[in-house]
Amino acid sequence: MLDTRELLLETDFPQVYRAKLETLQVNLGYLCNLSCTHCHVNAGPKRTELMSREVVDLVLDFIRQNSIKVLDLTGGAPEMNPHFRYLVTQARAMDVEVIDRCNLMILLEKGYEDLAEFLADQGVTITASLPCYLEENVEKQRGKGIYDGSIEALKMLNSLGYGKQKDLQLNLVYNPVDLNLPPAQDGLQADYKRILKEDFDIVFNQLFTITNMPISRFGGMLLAKGLYNKYMGILRDNYSSENLDTVMCRTLLSVDYQGYVYDCDFNQMLKMPLLASSKPRPHLKDMFDEKLEGRMIAIGEHCYGCTAGQGSSCGGALNE
Ligand code: SF4
Ligand code: SF4
Repeated sequence: MLDTRELLLETDFPQVYRAKLETLQVNLGYLCNLSCTHCHVNAGPKRTELMSREVVDLVLDFIRQNSIKVLDLTGGAPEMNPHFRYLVTQARAMDVEVIDRCNLMILLEKGYEDLAEFLADQGVTITASLPCYLEENVEKQRGKGIYDGSIEALKMLNSLGYGKQKDLQLNLVYNPVDLNLPPAQDGLQADYKRILKEDFDIVFNQLFTITNMPISRFGGMLLAKGLYNKYMGILRDNYSSENLDTVMCRTLLSVDYQGYVYDCDFNQMLKMPLLASSKPRPHLKDMFDEKLEGRMIAIGEHCYGCTAGQGSSCGGALNE
């Protein structure tokens, strides 16, 4: 696969600085039941990288010491890590909000039949990818049969109270299937809500629109099709400085499956280490005594993906 990394390192993107740390985003490994075309971590069923119990315990210690409010779990499919339930249970016992970035199909996999119930019992927030409300677009990006399966999984979550009870938040994630920026989040959310309710009686809380980043599988596709410069031009032309204050890296620390830390998930994929440390390749164990606030963030051309248009983060648009 072609790699955009070298093209992204040199940039004129404005320097951004860290604010108070609130969220620990932890990648539990690259194993996934799916292999989507836009996946920025190149996850799939053949990947073997998984966070160990030792690193999971380090994550819990860090949360405890730093009064972290939100634990955001990603992968791969985070639920496929054998220590997933232990981590969730321990974090919830500390009253930390836990977000599971769930691909929905995992809820239907053999061996995971009780997963949805576990998530509901623990009051885990589910942020689930459903790249479109149209079957054709979902299958183009994620593969055949994914649309029907996702609908079945959403119905199952609704039946457990997700999207209906205040303490069981169900959010959906949209990302474009082409070179465009996402449409306005509010308008698209209204369309999603109307169509999913009318066609399937499904309800959910919020829709997050996320811009595709020019890295990993999507970046490789851009290079292979000669579309890299065009896409970067779209991101740069739509630069909006008002998003700089709220880019997610200001309040988030991203941890990879081995425990190394980065400013965000994208920098993790690009192997751009955290600057806010005295170590050249900082690990979570080095961060217990580091003060992050006010420190520089490692930026690159891909950062234009976070500031284009209405802005983009793991929690959706930045200025809706
Ligand atoms: S479900 Fe998510 S992690 Fe898995 S391949 Fe698709 S985009 Fe990547
Ligand atoms: S790509 Fe990462 S470092 Fe750059 S602005 Fe976005 S969140 Fe921050």
